Amino acid sequence: MLLRLLEEGWPLDEVVFYDTGMEFKAIYDIRDRVKLILEERGIRYTELRPDYDFEWKMFDKPVNGPNGPHFGYSWCGGRCRWGTRDKLTVLERYARGAEEYIGIAADEKSRIEKERKGNKIMPLVAWGMAEADCLAYCYERGFTWEEDAGAGPVRLYDVLDRVSCWCCCNKNLKELRNMKRLLPDYWRKLEELQERTARPMKGPGKSVFDLGARFDGEKT
Ligand code: SF4
Repeated sequence: MLLRLLEEGWPLDEVVFYDTGMEFKAIYDIRDRVKLILEERGIRYTELRPDYDFEWKMFDKPVNGPNGPHFGYSWCGGRCRWGTRDKLTVLERYARGAEEYIGIAADEKSRIEKERKGNKIMPLVAWGMAEADCLAYCYERGFTWEEDAGAGPVRLYDVLDRVSCWCCCNKNLKELRNMKRLLPDYWRKLEELQERTARPMKGPGKSVFDLGARFDGEKT
């Protein structure tokens, strides 16, 4: 969306990047490239973060839950998307009702209805660009979300259905299997997080370690 807005000269005062602190390196690499483009064009760039460190909230924040007090909300995702809530709070506080472009694609029907509010503009919908069109558009311009993994470069959109936080427990088993096989450094980071919480990442019997053993078994 941003690339086409710039190419077509749409009015744009500022670009805001929200950093959860848990993004893939490829996201930060693209952010750095985009920052240079914006600098050349004199467009303001702003980086926002959650009020609290992601891992502190995941493991250390004192919480009064239905089963008594405990520390941390554990994995983020599913019905417990505390990271998304933080993101929306910070972004809304910053935007203060200003007109915003949001990159919802023309084939994301339920999101389009949810986000249809006075101050939101959806250029991808106006252009009729579906998610696959957007990816092709970015690839044509050399934006490929590539991770430098052990066995060679991996394009994130080749192995993940959606590129979100690397630790998002919304990832499906196909995506997690791909991470174990093709992005082993991130898999190790998932194991480190799992070591710090009793809640299995994908539900009972599906901790990161359970899934790792399952995926390894599939190889033989
Ligand atoms: S992408 Fe997943 S882990 Fe990250 S904030 Fe959203 S729901 Fe939470």
